[in-house]
Amino acid sequence: MIYPIVKYGDPVLEKPAEPVTIFDADLQKLVDDMFESMYAAHGVGLAAPQIGISKRLAVIDVTFKEDPDAKLVLANPEVIRTEGRHTQNEGCLSIPDFRESLTRAKTVTIRAQDVNGKFYEKTGEELLARAFLHETDHLNGKLYISHLSALKRDMIKRKIRKLVKAGEW
Ligand SMILES: [Zn+2]
Repeated sequence: MIYPIVKYGDPVLEKPAEPVTIFDADLQKLVDDMFESMYAAHGVGLAAPQIGISKRLAVIDVTFKEDPDAKLVLANPEVIRTEGRHTQNEGCLSIPDFRESLTRAKTVTIRAQDVNGKFYEKTGEELLARAFLHETDHLNGKLYISHLSALKRDMIKRKIRKLVKAGEW
């Protein structure tokens, strides 16, 4: 099932999500639906709050279907190590049509649980590192625009308000 993506302005995106405690068939189905929804939206990462479900759960595939082993399920992820700096354009499915240059850590290690509840650690670089930080932020109710300068952030918010008024958001 493909879920519609919740857009900026919905409070679910700005509140901390609840931990995943039950790893059952329903969670597997939700994860499958999240991958399907992410691919349908042409994204490389999706957090559960982005489909209106306030759970600490995200999916990532920075290869966009190229490599099946690159499909990652992050339940209750924690960032445990960051290193270096890397600047790249970043966007978010919940803030469509905007992209901004953002400096984040170049190398990031997370500790998370997979769809079966098994703990694992994984280190990512550049795009994967960025996805780890972006998706973990989502689960804490934080959007990437919160890392931008107040000036840039206000500019984006102003444009979004215009779109909302025009019924185009
Ligand atoms: Zn996002």
